[in-house]
Amino acid sequence: MLENQIGQIILKIAVPSPLEYLLDYLPPDGSSGEGLVVGMRVSVSFGRRQVVGVIFAIANSTHFDLAKLKKITAVLDEEPLLSAKFLELMYWVSDYYHHSLGEVVSSVLPKLLRDTKRKKDENFTLTAPGKINESHLRLNGDQCHAIDIIKNCLGYFQTFLLDGVTGSGKTEVYLRVIEAAVVAGKQALLLVPEINLTPQMIARFTEHFSTGVVVFHSRLTPRERLASWQLAQRGAAPIIIGTRSAIFTPLKSPGIIVVDEEHDLSFKQQTGLKYSARDLAVARGKLENIPVVLGSATPSLESIHNVKKGRYQLLSLVKRIGAAVQPTFHIVDMRSQKLKNGIALGLLGEINRHINNGGQVLVFLNRRGFAPLLICHHCGWTANCRYCDARLTLHQTKKHLGCHHCGMAMSIPSHCPHCGDEKLLALGIGTERVEEILREHFPTTPLVRIDRDTTRSKNSLENILGDIHDDKYQILIGTQMLAKGHHFPKVTMVAILNVDQSLGNCDFRASEHLAQLIMQVAGRAGRAAMSGEVYLQTHMPDHPLLLSLIRDGYGKFVTNCLVEREHANLPPYAHLALIQAEGKNQGEVDTFLSVVCDRAKKIIHTTTKIFGPVPNYMERKGGYFRLQLLLQNNRRHILQPDLVKILDILRSIGNKSRIKWYLDVDPLELG
Ligand code: ADP
Ligand code: ZN
Ligand code: ZN
Repeated sequence: MLENQIGQIILKIAVPSPLEYLLDYLPPDGSSGEGLVVGMRVSVSFGRRQVVGVIFAIANSTHFDLAKLKKITAVLDEEPLLSAKFLELMYWVSDYYHHSLGEVVSSVLPKLLRDTKRKKDENFTLTAPGKINESHLRLNGDQCHAIDIIKNCLGYFQTFLLDGVTGSGKTEVYLRVIEAAVVAGKQALLLVPEINLTPQMIARFTEHFSTGVVVFHSRLTPRERLASWQLAQRGAAPIIIGTRSAIFTPLKSPGIIVVDEEHDLSFKQQTGLKYSARDLAVARGKLENIPVVLGSATPSLESIHNVKKGRYQLLSLVKRIGAAVQPTFHIVDMRSQKLKNGIALGLLGEINRHINNGGQVLVFLNRRGFAPLLICHHCGWTANCRYCDARLTLHQTKKHLGCHHCGMAMSIPSHCPHCGDEKLLALGIGTERVEEILREHFPTTPLVRIDRDTTRSKNSLENILGDIHDDKYQILIGTQMLAKGHHFPKVTMVAILNVDQSLGNCDFRASEHLAQLIMQVAGRAGRAAMSGEVYLQTHMPDHPLLLSLIRDGYGKFVTNCLVEREHANLPPYAHLALIQAEGKNQGEVDTFLSVVCDRAKKIIHTTTKIFGPVPNYMERKGGYFRLQLLLQNNRRHILQPDLVKILDILRSIGNKSRIKWYLDVDPLELG
C-alpha cells in the first residue's frame, strides 16, 4: 500500500480490541494536534462504540485514505498518563504473550480510567511520604550480606533469588532494601500472592514506613483503586504492595521490585491475558534498569535454573531466626492402619499428644466440603456434574452437592436417582468432614476450620487469624489458605492429610508443587521457641519423592527434579506454549485443532514440536469441550515467531467458527 506523505498529524491509538495493530486517528476538531503526547488517553469512536484508547505513537503519515480517518472525539488527559517506559512494558507484554496492545492496555488501566464519560481528573489527596521508623533488630550475617549486595545494585538491573526457609528473615531483608530505595527517593513495588493472607507482612510494612504504603487489594472500590493507582503514578506513594496485577502499577521513579513467594501459582493469570507477574517483574526490572528480588523458601525450578545459568544471583538465608529450628518430618503409613474416616488412628494419637503439651495443631487438607464423592451403595451410581467431567462435592453445612469447577449446585438426593436405593455413601474427606471427625474425637478442644466456605464474609478471615493468635483455638483445619504467608508461632504440629491425591496427579509440575506445598505448610510449624513436627499421612510411604524430600530437603529434591526435566525436555529446559480451544461440540473442536495442527506443521520451524490435539485433563467443563495443542522448543526465539504464524492460522479459521481459542505462553499446567 502507498504511504500517504502529508503534513497532517496522525495519532496511532491502541483501542480495546483484539486487532493486532494500532489505529490511525486525526486530532480532535479544532486542533492541529499540538500538545498531544504519547501516553495520553483519548476517547475515540470505534465501530459503534465510544472507547478509551491510548496514544502510542504520533506520526505524519498513514497507509489509509486521509479523508476516511476519524477524528479523536476528546482528549482525556492533560499530561501523559502512561510514561514512555510504561508503554515499552506494554509493547513487551503484547509481543511476549501475543495479545494486542489495546487488550493489554485495557487489562492494565483501572476501570474508571477506561470510562469515556469520565473526563475530569480527580485530585486525590496525596499522603505525605511516610516517616521511617527505625528498626532495632540486629541483622544476622546472611541478612547483612544479602542487603549489602542488593543495595549496591540499586540503579542497575540485576535479578536476585533470595532463598531462605520460612522464618529465616526474608521479610526483614525486603524491608531494608526497600528502605534504601525509598531513602534514595525511589519507589518500591512488592508483589505478594494474596493480600488477605499476608496481614502480618502488610502490618510490618505500614509500621515501618507509616503512611507511605499503598496496598492494592480486591476489596478496593473503583475510586479507591484509582486513587492508589494515581498516587503510584505521580510518585506520591513510595511503596506499593499488591497481588499479581500490581505488576502493572505505573511508577514515576521506580527503584526496586520484590516478589515474595515467587514460586506461588497465583502470580500466573489463568484467564484472558495469561501473564506471569513473576516473569514480568524481571522483564520490567530490565526495562527500568532496577534490581528485582525474588524471594521464596521453595524457589521455582525456573528460578533455580536461572541461578545455575548465571542469570540470577543467589542470596541464601540458611538458618531460621533465633531459637527456631527446622521441623522434623514423619511419615504416617496408612496401610493396614485403623482409620477413622480417612484419618489414621496413629495420627490422632500424635495430635492428642501435642494438644496435651499445650501446642497448636494445624491439619492441612487440600479439599473443601464434606466429601468429594457421593455413591450409591447398591448400584454404584455417582453424583457427577451435568456440565463438567467432575464429581460433585457434598457440602453438609450448605446442604447441597456442588461442582468446584463450574459452580453448579443441587440439593442432596434422598435416594439413588438410578436405582432408587436409599443407601447413598459419602466417600472421602474434605475439610468439613475432618472438622466433624476431630470435634467428635477431641470434644473439649477448641477448633476452627479455615477455607473459602468459612471465610467468605468480610473480615471473617482477619477475625479468625486474630483469634488464633490470641490462642483461642488449639486445632486449625484448613486448605491452602493456611499454607501461605501467615505465621503461627504456637503451632507445634502440622498434619498433611491427602498427600496421595497429589502424588497421583500426572501433570509434569505436580511433584514440584507438592514438594513446595509440603515445605510451605511445614514452615508454619515451630517458628518460635517450640520445635515443630510434620506428619505426612500416605498409602505410599516408599514414594521416592516423599523420601527424598524428607531425607535430603528441598534443595536436593530440586536437583533431582531438574535432571528429570532435562531428560524429558520440559521447562525450564524447553519452552512451551498451549493452544486451547473449546466449544459445545466435541467433534468440531477436535477438527478445528487438527486443521490448525496440520497447517502449522507445514510452516513452523523444523525444531518446533507440536503435539495434539489432546483433551484437557477435564475435557468437559461448564458445558464446553476443551482440547489443546502443545508446542515445544528449546529456543524461545524460534518458538515465538512460530506462535505468530500459528496465530495467523487461528485467526483466519477461528474467527469464522464457533470455537473459542486461547494461547497460553509458558503454561503452568498442561490442562
Ligand atoms: P521470613 O520472611 O523469611 O519468613 P521474617 O523476616 O518474617 O522471615 O522473620 C521471622 C521473624 O524473625 C519475624 O518475627 C522477624 O521480625 C524476626 N527477625 C527477622 N530478622 C531478625 C533478626 N535479625 N533478629 C531478630 N529477629 C529477626
Ligand atoms: Zn443406585
Ligand atoms: Zn461443573
